[in-house]
Amino acid sequence: MENEKWVLCPICNNKTRIKVHPDTVVENIPLFCPKCKRETIISVTGQNVAAVKKTKDDMKVSL
Ligand SMILES: [Zn+2]
Repeated sequence: MENEKWVLCPICNNKTRIKVHPDTVVENIPLFCPKCKRETIISVTGQNVAAVKKTKDDMKVSL
């Protein structure tokens, strides 16, 4: 699976737990970052990741 690519956190650039393929298309999916523990809404189109918006109350995110 060479074409798999980890999605990076838009906030701290850490690897997240989400992988994408060249044909991946997702819109407005919550991306949780295990490092900074924040959630960002992203859209993915063929490994092009765009942050839609950052959650306002990211301090409330917990494991
Ligand atoms: Zn992060």
